[in-house]
Amino acid sequence: MAGAETTFREFYRQSIDRPDKFWAEQAKRIDWQVPPQQICDYSQPPFARWFVGGTTNLCHNAVDRHLASRADQPALIFVSTETDQEQVYTYAQLHTEVQRMAAVLKDLGVEQGDRVLIYMPMIPEAAFAMLACVRIGAIHSVVFGGFASGSLATRIEDAEPKVVVSADAGSRGGKVVAYKPLLDEAIELSRHKPRRVLMVDRKLAPMTWLEKRDVLWSELRAQHLNDHVPCTWVDATHTSYTLYTSGTTGKPKGVQRDTGGYAVALAASMDLIYQGQPGETYFCTSDIGWVVGHSYIIYGPLIHGMSTLMYEGLPIRPDAGIWWQLVEKYKVTRMFSAPTAVRVLKKQDPAHLKQYDLSSLKALYLAGEPLDQPTAQWISEGLGVPIIDNYWQTETGWPIMTIANGVEPAPSKFGSPGVPMYGYHLKLINENTGEDLVGHQEKGVVAIEGPLPPGCLQTIWKDDERFVNTYWKSIPDRLVYNTFDWGIRDEDGYYFILGRTDDVINVAGHRLGTREIEECIAGHSQVAEVAVVGVADALKGQVAMAFVVPRDNHYLQDDAAKLRLEGEIMKLVDGQLGAVARPSRVLFVSLLPKTRSGKLLRRALQAVCEGRDPGDLTTMDDPAALHQLRSLFT
Ligand code: ATP
Ligand code: MG
Repeated sequence: MAGAETTFREFYRQSIDRPDKFWAEQAKRIDWQVPPQQICDYSQPPFARWFVGGTTNLCHNAVDRHLASRADQPALIFVSTETDQEQVYTYAQLHTEVQRMAAVLKDLGVEQGDRVLIYMPMIPEAAFAMLACVRIGAIHSVVFGGFASGSLATRIEDAEPKVVVSADAGSRGGKVVAYKPLLDEAIELSRHKPRRVLMVDRKLAPMTWLEKRDVLWSELRAQHLNDHVPCTWVDATHTSYTLYTSGTTGKPKGVQRDTGGYAVALAASMDLIYQGQPGETYFCTSDIGWVVGHSYIIYGPLIHGMSTLMYEGLPIRPDAGIWWQLVEKYKVTRMFSAPTAVRVLKKQDPAHLKQYDLSSLKALYLAGEPLDQPTAQWISEGLGVPIIDNYWQTETGWPIMTIANGVEPAPSKFGSPGVPMYGYHLKLINENTGEDLVGHQEKGVVAIEGPLPPGCLQTIWKDDERFVNTYWKSIPDRLVYNTFDWGIRDEDGYYFILGRTDDVINVAGHRLGTREIEECIAGHSQVAEVAVVGVADALKGQVAMAFVVPRDNHYLQDDAAKLRLEGEIMKLVDGQLGAVARPSRVLFVSLLPKTRSGKLLRRALQAVCEGRDPGDLTTMDDPAALHQLRSLFT
C-alpha cells in the first residue's frame, strides 16, 4: 500500500511493471475465504481473470466483516425529498435486512448464478436487493427505474432473470411514476418471462396483481424476519452483476463484472483516490441504475466501512440548498456527483451554497461527462474544496484517470480529469496507423493495453465476440482496449478528453473536436449549457452547429437579442479557435436532448440537423427536447 514517501509516478510504474506484486498487495484490503492462488491469468487475451483460485463474497466485504467493529455505526442513510422520509440503517440493521431479502429470494427459487433484475427507485430495498443477490451468488442486473417498457423489455430479454424485484412507483419532482404498469408491459413484450416478481409497495400507486407470479415484499419479509442466510463463497471470477451502458452512442452493451477484482479495485480506490475514512459519510448523488451508483453509492463506501448516503429526489427540491443541508446534517466528507447536476445548480441562486456549514466536506468528485471550466470554477469557489474530475466508463467500474491524492497529493488542472490511474496501461494511439503517440499535444484515441486492471468488465454478457470485436479490434494491427474517446496529453502527463471519437468533425479538411468548441462557447457569461455537433455540408464536408441554452430565458423570445448573442459567440470562437471552428449557426433552446443519466444525446441532435431518423431513443430523458429541436428545423 502507498506509504507517505511513495510518489505517484513510482506507484503507477509498479502497477504496470509488476502488476502481480502490486495487486497481490492491494488484494489484502478485502477478506478472502480462500486467498487467490494466481493474481492474473491472461493466458487468453483479451480476457483477464483476476485473483484466480480465491474465493470471497461482495456482501461479506460490504456488510458482515464490519459487524465486529461497527455494528452500531450508520451504514445506509436514506433520504427522500420525494416522500419526506429519512431512515438510518446501522451495519447490524443492514445485515438483518439483507438476510431477510436473501431469504426471500431463495424462497422464490433464486440460486447461485441466477439473474435477478432490479427495477427500482432509490429506496433502501434496492440496496438490500443488490446486496442480497451477491450474498447468495446470484447475479443482479439493475435497470434504471423509470426506463420505459421498451428499454426494460430488451434488458429483461438479455438478462433472462428468474426474479424481478421492483416497486409500485418512483417519484420525480413530486410526480409519481408508476412502475408496475411499465414492468408488466415490459414482461409482456419480452420473450423471456421471469418466474416471480417481488414488489415493494410504497403506497404511491395502485398495482394490478398477477396471481402466482407477483409477490409482496412486506408479506414475505414477515415470514423471514429472523432468518440467517450465510454468505455463499464464490470464485473471485464469479460474475457479480451485469449493467448496461448509457446508450449515448448506440445500442447499450451489457457489461459483465466479476467479484474479487471488483471488490479489490473499489477498496483500493476508496483509500487511494477518494481518501474516505471508515466511519465518515460518503455522499454520491448518482442513481443505483448507473455504474457510479453501483460502485460509489453501494459497494465502495460499504466495503470501506463508511456510511453511505442514498438520496431520492432532485438537487433543487425543496430548494437548491438540499444537498448542502444534507452535507451539514450528516457531516459528509466526500461527495460524488456529475457535471450535469452542477450545471443545474448553477442556474439557481448561489446563496444556497452559503446557507450551511460545509466544513466537514473535503472534496467533490465529478464524473460522467466533460467538466467545463466555468462549471468547475463556479462550484469550486462556492464550496471552497477541491473539485476532482474523474474519467471512466461503465465498462471499467472505477476511474481510468483522475488524481490519486491518497497516494501523493497533486494539483488538479482545470479541464483535465488528471493522469492515468494505477493499473491502467494507458496509451494515446493514432487511430489510422495504430501507432503510439509519444509527443505532447498530439491528439489520439485513448486506449488501454491489456490486461485491464481488476474491476473492469470481464466481457459483454453472453457475447464474447462483441466484447472482442467492439473494444479490442478497432485499431489496426493491435489488441488494445479502445475507450472511443479522444484525448491529448500535456507536458506534465495530464490528459484532456476531447470528446468521443465519433464526435470529431471535419470542416474543409480540418479535424476539430466538438468538445473544444463547446468549451470555448461555455466561456460566454450568458451561456448555461452548450452542445456542438458536426452536420453534413455539401461544400465543407461538415460544419459545426451549436445549440445553446441561455442563462436567461428572455433570449428565447427576443429575436434581436438572439442575433446579438449569436454574433458574440461566433466572435468568441473566432478569437480562440479560429474561423474554421466557428459554428455555421447558433441555435437557442431551453433544454438539450439527454440520456436518462444526463449525458448529451449528440447523435439525436445530429440526426435532427441532418433531417435523419434519430434512431434508438429509448434511453432519452425528456422528449420535449427533441420536439423543440424539430420545430427549429421545420
Ligand atoms: P454508450 O457506451 O452506451 O454509448 P456511454 O459511453 O455514455 O454510453 P457510460 O459508460 O455511462 O456510457 O459513459 C462513459 C463515457 O462518458 C466515457 O467514455 C466518456 O465519453 C464520458 N465521460 C465519463 N467521464 C468523463 C470525464 N470525466 N470527462 C469527459 N468525459 C467523460
Ligand atoms: Mg461508452
